[in-house]
This record gives sequence, C-alpha cells and structure tokens, in this order.
Amino acid sequence: MTQIDSHSATNPPLRRIGLRGRLAATVAGRRRLSGETRRLLPLVAPVALGGIAAVVAALWSFAVSSPDGHTIAAAAAFLLAAAIAEGFPVPLDSVAVGGTSLATVFIITTAVLYGWTVATPVAAFGMAAVELARRRELIRVTYNTGVYALAAVAAGTAAAAVHGSNLGQLAAATLVAGLAFYAVNITLVAAVVGRSSGEPSRTVLRRYVSQTLVPLGVMVCVALVLVVVWDRSPLAAVALAGPLASIVIYERRMYEAFVRLREVDRMKDEFIAIVSHELRTPLASVYGAAITLQRDVLEPKTRNSLLEVVYNESARLARLVDQVLSASRLESGGSSLAVEPVDASRVAREVVESIRPRLPSALHVDLVHAAPPPFVAADAEKLKQVLVNLVENAVKYSPEGGRIQVRLAPAADQVRFSVQDEGIGMPSGEQEHIFEKFHRLDPNLTRGVGGTGLGLYICREFLQRMGGRIWVESELGIGSTFSFELPRADTAPGMHVNAE
Ligand code: ADP
Repeated sequence: MTQIDSHSATNPPLRRIGLRGRLAATVAGRRRLSGETRRLLPLVAPVALGGIAAVVAALWSFAVSSPDGHTIAAAAAFLLAAAIAEGFPVPLDSVAVGGTSLATVFIITTAVLYGWTVATPVAAFGMAAVELARRRELIRVTYNTGVYALAAVAAGTAAAAVHGSNLGQLAAATLVAGLAFYAVNITLVAAVVGRSSGEPSRTVLRRYVSQTLVPLGVMVCVALVLVVVWDRSPLAAVALAGPLASIVIYERRMYEAFVRLREVDRMKDEFIAIVSHELRTPLASVYGAAITLQRDVLEPKTRNSLLEVVYNESARLARLVDQVLSASRLESGGSSLAVEPVDASRVAREVVESIRPRLPSALHVDLVHAAPPPFVAADAEKLKQVLVNLVENAVKYSPEGGRIQVRLAPAADQVRFSVQDEGIGMPSGEQEHIFEKFHRLDPNLTRGVGGTGLGLYICREFLQRMGGRIWVESELGIGSTFSFELPRADTAPGMHVNAE
C-alpha cells in the first residue's frame, strides 16, 4: 500500500503549516496561529487526537489481554521491520505523490495475525520514530502518526471481520485489511493536501488513487505471502527479509539512475535551446550585413562598419562553437592538455592586446604586473582560452563601461591571475554556482546580456586539469574580480624553464 502521507503528499502542506517553534508557541498561546495553520487545524487536531486515543486504547487492550512472550516478540519484530521500511522508502516514478514504504506490508500483516491492538502501536511508533529521527516538525509528526494509527485500527478491525485461518480466509483478511488501511490513509492525505492547496479534496483523492492503485496491489500480495509464511513459521518468514531488502535497494538505485538520466535529458534540451538562441543572434547580424552589402551602393564608412559587424559577429560565432566543442570534449574526456612552462605575462599581453581594438569606448583594459611574473606550468592554448573568457565576460558584464584590470602576481609556489571589472557584479548566493555548466544569472541581473553559461565551467575544468583553481569575489552593482592560480613552472615537478 502506498504510504504517501509520510513522505511527500502531506509534506508540502505540513511544511507550510509552520515550524516546530511556531507550533510550540501556538500551543503555549503566545503567538497567534498563522492563516494556514488555522485552516488545517480543524483536520489536523482530530486526526492527531484520534491517533493518540487509538494508540492508548490499543496499548491498554494489549496489556489487559496478558500477551504471551511470542506475541510480544512478534510485536517488537514487526515494529522494528516497519520502522526500518519506513526509514528506507521505495521511490516509484509513476507515484508522483512520493515514495512507497514497505512498512505498510508489516502493518497489514500485524493487523491480520495479531489484530488492531498490536498493529496500531506498530504503525504509530514506527512512523513517529522515523519522523522524529528525520527532525520533522512536531505538527507533521503528530498528523502522520495519527493517520497511520487510525489506518491500522481500520485494518485490524476489517481483518477481524474475516474468521478462520485457511489460505482463502487469510487471503480475504489480508485483502480487506489492506483496503481498509489504504482507504483511511489516502483519504486523510487527500483531505489535508486539498485543504492546504485549495484544490477540492475529491480531485486530489482521485489523482492519488489512480497513481497508487498498482503499488497497493503489490503491497497486498507481498503482505499475503508474509502472512501465510509467518502463520506456518515466523522463523521461515525471516527469509523474506533478503528479497524484500534487495527489492528496496534495487528500486532505489534504479530510481536514482532514472533521475540522473532525466536531469541529463533536461540539460540537453536546455543546451540546445540556449545554443540555438545564441547562434541565431550573430547569424542574423551577419545575414543582415551581407544583404545590405550586396544590394546597396554604400558609402565607404558604412561599408566598413558593416564589414566590421560581419567580422565581429563571425568571431562571436566561432567562439561559441569553440565553447560548445570544448565543453563536449571535457564531457567525453577527450580534451588533452600539453602542459609546459608558459610565459604568463606574454599570454596575458596577447589577450589584452587582442581585445583592445574591440572594446566599447567607455571601457578601458590594463595589464598590471610588477616584476615579470614567473613562468607557469600550463597548456598555453587553454590558459589563453581561460583568460580570454574572463576578460570577455568582464567586457560583457560592464554595460556602463569602467576599468578592467588584468593582474599577475606570484603567490607562494603559484602565480595568481585576476581580472577585475567595475561591472554589474552578482549577488553572493550565486557566486558558488556560476562555475556550474549552463548556470547563468537571472536575465534581470545580467541585464539581458546573452551567453551559454559554458565559459566559466570550461575555465574551471581546464584550470583543475592544470592543477589550478578559480574563484570569484563580487558585489552586486560594484563589480567582480575573478582570480585563478596556476603552479609556477620552476616548482612544478618535471618542468624545465627556458626563459627567453
Ligand atoms: P555566459 O556565456 O552566460 O557569460 P559564463 O559561464 O561565462 O557564461 O558565465 C556564467 C554566468 O556568470 C553569466 O551568465 C553571468 O551571469 C555571470 N558572470 C560571469 N562573469 C561575470 C562578470 N564579470 N560580472 C558579472 N557576472 C558575471
């Protein structure tokens, strides 16, 4: 049976109800109830109170029935099994409302074999233990525990209505116990979700039932096998632990793999969308300029500026294709490096000189270093690509102009490169993510500047492969400084420096 209540179906509403502290304050009457809590309380309170009453009544009946050692041991074993199963739910892709826990199997089995007086505490304590261990909010623990306790009472009562212990009767008892547990469980879940989201509970219920009917069938069948085997020999039933554990482990692995595949798929779609968008803009400019150049009789000045557009936009296209190729090679492990002693100041000079002619008039770029810095152990081409990317970003993200400084300085056995701009900067929360593949800031924050989100990812990967690291310090509206370090060639193992 599907145990949606304990994992996610009720989680969103209950998470929104408020935190543990808020509930404590509510109970103490010190704070006023939030609107959401007030809306849910008429449902949460009776379920929680009903659950507590059911557990107390079950424990009392159990105690006065003077249970023998076997029953007490069985209750303890099922409680342990339910808690473990609850702690390791089985994620099912088709069950959008959450994971499915095999705890339900143990609760139904207990209900059939030992009645509601054992099943209710097994369900309630198993659920409460796991929810408390996960440090869930108190209000959620009580609601979920209440739901389980009431569902177990229903299962035990339904099973007791079927008399006899032959195979057919055990099967009938398991079936009705499973259905009763499921009916109470899913109805209360749908009720709280509906109340919280504003969606009619009946609609939520219909959706949940259609998503969970198959897992319900599987759970009832597994419970029946357990009931029959336990009825013959509890020790033999222990042998079921292995197959059940492997089903859970296998299903969890499959689900993780599935989630990863879906993420890759999503990233591919996003990548295609971003790259096609980024390709279209320069292509449109080149196309427009070519048409004008072909058709019209133009003044030399206009003609030159159109040719410049063609040149700049083609260069942009080439850079984009290079980025895509680099990212794809990094992904497939096909990007090889030729690490050798490299004159860092020469590379930086070349990068700065190549970018100067393309700078907007409000921007200035300077190369700053005291004494010529030591050679670095790097792949010259990759180092150049990293620096070009950082300087071009500094240009792109400085729409109001300003000064860009490329600095080089020795730092212990490394050489530190930094590119500082006075551009738009970025919020601190984003700074750790911008080196991830495809990660771009909100268009409002980047003021609509285009890009693929690949450049910094490539920089980080290249630098890591060359034994370096990269980081950023930035303040929104003030500017950013991207810094990276690479090992000095004279201290890197196996490097011989031949300075000219
Ligand atoms: P993109 O092609 O989007 O520029 P990058 O990987 O180079 O991809 O950069 C990732 C994101 O980091 C950018 O989209 C931008 O939001 C932010 N970013 C990079 N450099 C700067 C900078 N100098 N100033 C402000 N934000 C920057």
